[in-house]
Amino acid sequence: MRKKIVAGNWKMNNTFQEGIKLVEEIINNEKTKPSNAVLKIIAPPFIHLASISDKLKSATGFASAAQNCHHETAGAYTGEVSAKMIASAGANFIIIGHSERRQYFGETNGVCVKKIDMALKENLIPIYCVGEKLEDRNDNNHFKIVKQQLQEALFHLSLSEFNNIVIAYEPVWAIGTGITATAAQAQEMHLFIRNEISNKYGNKAGAELSILYGGSCNANNAKELFACADVDGGLIGGASLKAADFITIANSF
Ligand code: PEP
Repeated sequence: MRKKIVAGNWKMNNTFQEGIKLVEEIINNEKTKPSNAVLKIIAPPFIHLASISDKLKSATGFASAAQNCHHETAGAYTGEVSAKMIASAGANFIIIGHSERRQYFGETNGVCVKKIDMALKENLIPIYCVGEKLEDRNDNNHFKIVKQQLQEALFHLSLSEFNNIVIAYEPVWAIGTGITATAAQAQEMHLFIRNEISNKYGNKAGAELSILYGGSCNANNAKELFACADVDGGLIGGASLKAADFITIANSF
């Protein structure tokens, strides 16, 4: 079911106490202008996940997400966290294939396949991130790269599995840089993604897919981006660390 979604990726920010304070501010801030029409997702670091999931349970229109998971169920993987553990903490979504994971941790489309499968097995919804680097765009390879990221990580899924996927288009050159894709660039790629999905899984699956934009989306530019026909919301990094900004973004449809 196509939904409007605004997801805040806190990345490696906030101590435990700061995280609790921020989520309380977000919930209280949202109460002044509640919107059930938009699903607001908070993706904190692992240490916050159980407490924040618990807090969000009693707030309307909120859900929680992990920023990553390991691709095995359990075992001798020091420092790692499995999808099963994430589900047991009360989370509902997992961000998979974020460009920072690809860049700093060598995550490939192949690893994303395993992580996506693990998430779905635990009834968690993957938010699968795709997006080209600046050189890919300059070389006019951006559609080719994104198509490959879709094909290699998602196209093994059955239709019923695919119906539980959210996609985030995050051009790498826009993440954390202050450079946002123009609304036209975002719309062009979102439409491309929707068409690729329709070709593979049928028009209904394409029409019902939620596709989020990520990359320096903030309280000032969210309205223009979210007004695009194929942009169903945002995956927000830096601007999700301020309660008022996050709620302004969530109210930008
Ligand atoms: C992100 O990390 O997914 C992101 C979009 O970051 P920022 O909003 O800071 O560019």
